[in-house]
Amino acid sequence: MILLNPGPVNVSERVRKALSREDLCHREEEFSGLLQGIRKKLLRAFVPDGSYAAIVLTGSGTAAVEAAISCCLDEGRKLLIINNGVYGERMARMAVAYGMNMVELKFPWQQHPDLSRLEAILKKEPSIQVVAMVHHETTTGMLNPVREVGNLTGRYGMRLIVDSVSGLGGETLDLARDGVDMCVGTAGKCIQAFPGVSFVLIRHGEMERIQKIPPRSLYLYLPDHFRDQEKGTVPYTPAVQLYYAFDEALAELLKEGLEGRIARYQRAAQLLRKGFSRLGLEFLLHEGLRSNTITSLYLPKGLSYQMLHNGLKQKGYIIYAGQGTLQTDIFRVANMGALKRSDFEGFIHHLEEVLK
Ligand SMILES: *Cc1c(COP(=O)(O)O)cnc(C)c1O
Repeated sequence: MILLNPGPVNVSERVRKALSREDLCHREEEFSGLLQGIRKKLLRAFVPDGSYAAIVLTGSGTAAVEAAISCCLDEGRKLLIINNGVYGERMARMAVAYGMNMVELKFPWQQHPDLSRLEAILKKEPSIQVVAMVHHETTTGMLNPVREVGNLTGRYGMRLIVDSVSGLGGETLDLARDGVDMCVGTAGKCIQAFPGVSFVLIRHGEMERIQKIPPRSLYLYLPDHFRDQEKGTVPYTPAVQLYYAFDEALAELLKEGLEGRIARYQRAAQLLRKGFSRLGLEFLLHEGLRSNTITSLYLPKGLSYQMLHNGLKQKGYIIYAGQGTLQTDIFRVANMGALKRSDFEGFIHHLEEVLK
């Protein structure tokens, strides 16, 4: 099956084989070596300037987002969440679940956040301490303006958390330049490993602040994970075999080069979008808003998602439905994973057949 959903993705043979390495106890030095290798590779790939630390967690991307959100806020301060899609909304639901003081700034799903509205609130409410946003809104495939938001949080002395679960590996993101304090990613999307391992990249100095805040979670309490990982160990049993594969996928990413990976995804998206245009499909987002890895398209009149999905599945391709209010109107095609040009050409060919 060719997976054109935004994770889990198709992985290389090398990554798949890593799953079947020797059984290993996570309290042995071999596991420490594996863990520290993963943490180093994450930094080399995404923040090579040495100003961040990586914390690896067992759990899907949502676990790491929840770990970052739940520990980020001093008592008596406020968290502002930018919500223009399902994943921004999910962070707001986390803040509610943890009883955190939260302001939710909602924007239409097909638009960038209105920065003047954001600035007005930051100016008016000095009790806001942390701003959280999604880098690449997987709901629509829209790239949000991290740099511009980072300029504002920097100017007003606020912290910035970025959910880049579907961005890292597929989009350029300069954490240090944009003043990102915590950035969340996952193994199972553009890094091309398996789902079940995720991570937080944290700016040096930020952990010292967060450590002083009383824990709101036990299992997902980042300062505990950080403290142990700095010593080469982990507080709870990790998904050891998935770590083997994650390490291998990171080695592949470093070999391809982050820029090479991003360029490959860009080329794949271009090929797909040229095909979609030729087939007369309509895009949900304006060209300038689109990411390198997801394309949202309106379903042609008279064709249900189920019909399209099932027709393509029979040919060996998995597409993805819309979410929320877009569920009945659109379908999504992702181009993450260890796929070749011929896979995308084959998909366009079969899409044409199924549409007929
Ligand atoms: C995939 C994704 C997540 C996490 O989803 P999981 O299913 O928990 O891996 C979080 N944020 C964004 C933007 C995502 O695309």
